[in-house]
Amino acid sequence: MNRYGLITILCLLISSSGFGQLTYDQRIQVKVNQVQGLSTDLLKFESFGIKNDGSKGLENTLNWLESRYSDMNNMDIFKDSFIHPLSSNINVNLIVEKKGTDGSAPWIIITSHYDTRSGPGVNDNGTGVAASLKMAELLADVSTRNPVRFIHFAGEEEGYFGSKHYVDNVLGINASVLLVINLDQLGGTKGGSDNDKIVCERDESLPDFNNLKSWSYTDTLSQAIELYTSLQTTTGKAFNSDYMPFQDKGYVITGLWQFNGLQYPFYHTSGDSLIHVDTNATIEVTKGALAAVLHFSRATGFVNARGISKGSATVYPNPASRSIYIDLPPSKEYNVLIYNFLGEIVKTDTLQRNSNKLDIDLGQGMYLIKAIDKENSAIFSGKFVVRD
Ligand SMILES: [Zn+2]
Repeated sequence: MNRYGLITILCLLISSSGFGQLTYDQRIQVKVNQVQGLSTDLLKFESFGIKNDGSKGLENTLNWLESRYSDMNNMDIFKDSFIHPLSSNINVNLIVEKKGTDGSAPWIIITSHYDTRSGPGVNDNGTGVAASLKMAELLADVSTRNPVRFIHFAGEEEGYFGSKHYVDNVLGINASVLLVINLDQLGGTKGGSDNDKIVCERDESLPDFNNLKSWSYTDTLSQAIELYTSLQTTTGKAFNSDYMPFQDKGYVITGLWQFNGLQYPFYHTSGDSLIHVDTNATIEVTKGALAAVLHFSRATGFVNARGISKGSATVYPNPASRSIYIDLPPSKEYNVLIYNFLGEIVKTDTLQRNSNKLDIDLGQGMYLIKAIDKENSAIFSGKFVVRD
């Protein structure tokens, strides 16, 4: 092979990796650093005891999850009931949705089962559940282009019954889904030696037409984790959890799994409790998952927890003519100011909740727009050009 042939192949390899190299975004780091204190949710999860099919623990956990999500902004909650094929008991999947700013953008689905086997299941899978709750809490006031759906499945331990039911009966085969991210066993074993590592899982199963996309997203997931957290990543094969029914139908999947799971001596035992889990490791994994979701969902408006924050907002179309759209966290009302290139205010307006369209009547030129939420907690600015 000659040198040019090699270069061509290298270029093809680089371009087939899809997203290419991630660039560091300080706003993502600020948001990600707000992931703290998973122990409260993990202890609560533990307090419900065993959560197998037909147990009071399963029912109590479902009710608790529902109330946790109903306390968050911008989350729509649905239940998907199914008949457990082994017992004929009614089991319930909990589905929580955060809308995106682009109504036609595909979903990002984050899955984590809440049933357990033989014990309270703090690692398997209280960690995936607590990570989802924290991510939802922190995403609630971030404006994302893509909608994000969190699903907590029941019936995973006996054969992915909840996720199978959901994929077969709710999702169907051609739903608009960008990516499924499965979180199952994210906690390092307390005192374990591999707690600074996490496995990013990619699709290596048939059908394989969806595998390359899975590898590309998994590669980006791994980059996000290494860029925004202290963890190192390794790549592994996706298997044995709720992403498999999605992959069977051709959806693009990825997942996170703490390698210690293999050596974790409390796996599927009554000892899978908080004292045996390295919660700092779980926090780091949650940070990495959140960073990846902020990237994949094309987050634009960020609000910090403290004081007034500054963020940039995307304005489109750009160039514009008669009206513009501005990406902002949707739950608030805003005062809007538009400045010309001399810094003079040429228009003021307001944006109601969940509305992002402004009619403009401006001459050709470049403009700066500032949107300040009515609680004065955040300012977003963006630039746009008007052309007739
Ligand atoms: Zn599990």
